[in-house]
Amino acid sequence: MINKSRRQFIARTTSVALAAAAYRQSNAQVAALPEVATNLVVELPRCRVPLSFIIDDSTCLVNMGKFCMPQFSATYPEREDYRKPWQDWPDEIPDAFVREFGSWCAEHGVKGKYSIVPYPACVGWLDRTLPGWSQKQLTDSLTLVRELMLPNWDIHPEMITHTRAIDLKTGRPFADYSPAHMENSYPQEDVSVDYLASYLAYALRILKNCDLPCEGITTPGGFGNRVKSKLPHAVFEAVRDVYNVEVPHYFKYVSSDDESTDPVMEPMPDHARSVPRATMNVPAGTGDWFGGWEGATPSQGEKYSNTDATSGRMVDLIEQRRPAIMLCHWPGMYCNGEKEGFHDFQRVVMALNKRFAEQTVWMKVSEIGNYWAAKGLTQMKASETSVEFDAPIPCQDFTVTIPANPVSNLVLTSDDAVKKLYSVSSRASLNKHTYFNDSGMTTVCLDLPRGKSVLQL
Ligand SMILES: [Zn+2]
Repeated sequence: MINKSRRQFIARTTSVALAAAAYRQSNAQVAALPEVATNLVVELPRCRVPLSFIIDDSTCLVNMGKFCMPQFSATYPEREDYRKPWQDWPDEIPDAFVREFGSWCAEHGVKGKYSIVPYPACVGWLDRTLPGWSQKQLTDSLTLVRELMLPNWDIHPEMITHTRAIDLKTGRPFADYSPAHMENSYPQEDVSVDYLASYLAYALRILKNCDLPCEGITTPGGFGNRVKSKLPHAVFEAVRDVYNVEVPHYFKYVSSDDESTDPVMEPMPDHARSVPRATMNVPAGTGDWFGGWEGATPSQGEKYSNTDATSGRMVDLIEQRRPAIMLCHWPGMYCNGEKEGFHDFQRVVMALNKRFAEQTVWMKVSEIGNYWAAKGLTQMKASETSVEFDAPIPCQDFTVTIPANPVSNLVLTSDDAVKKLYSVSSRASLNKHTYFNDSGMTTVCLDLPRGKSVLQL
């Protein structure tokens, strides 16, 4: 959930280029920078602006807006905004609503990130029992997330409880509920990468017990603000340890109006290009303007996009051709049963899809992070007759523009396969293994295999 100190604005100078510069500094002895021939341009995937929807504070069944409110109020008794009438709100955001939301999103192509808080507001453990609900209800709810949400959404733990911090030695919440021991502001002292990674891994393991795969994490509130430089390393260690993910990612930051929304590659100290050891930091590009973290805030969907997609932050980002990742909180979709936020969201998606269908592509947060990782890590060399790729990680829909006279019969050759590419008649038609000739330039879209491959022109 967001409060004023919640998501700190990301520095203006965030870009893959800057990450590469940082990488050069920290890895001068380790590896050379990726070679990118200056006459090649890595485009957006399929030359389309990536869209995504980040949902925070979701979990199974428990209405986090209701259960967080009194715990936040105890920690911050002076805060007016934590005194909303939580007693009147439903305990549950029902699976019927998850089904309605997830089915609608699948029909309209929406993808993104959906948090599953593993011990939501200390109500119960999703891999054990959820007091207030039957074991069958819990099992059914997890099954619904696996079957309906997983195909189009990354699942992230939003730490362990999103309220009280857990003492890893005992598995119980710390007795102290001052800001020092609330996850939204935890930890308040410098801690080691190992400790931080242990805390993240504790959350990840609960979701692993629930058979939910994760490639990244979301920080609740200001979690990790005091140890920002250690967080990427801790994410890397924890997500690799529990899930063996090659390039983990995390969501913590929101980019403001004039800042880049590009994912940032954060290399580990021992990063080497041939064996990537880096975490992707994927920022959102909007605030939460639907129903708020507690589901009781009037929705202002027009701030994302108006009904004909001619104004709004998402429209601006699409027109500027920058990744357009929108943000909300799950209780703000349900709005305690009124669903005002969900209906406003549907209007926004339909407006964007109607005006920008051919210029945008919905992607999971992990897919966006992976694309920028591949963009930062792949070496490319072009000659008059070929382009050579050396890719430490594979990448779907990798799209590059090459100066070339109209070409035909393009073939991508790697150790395992030979792929023929097909010509398309417009940029908007670019899809995997196609190319588009356009006045002295050729744009190619391909599934880049790991390792070396050659595109014969
Ligand atoms: Zn949250």
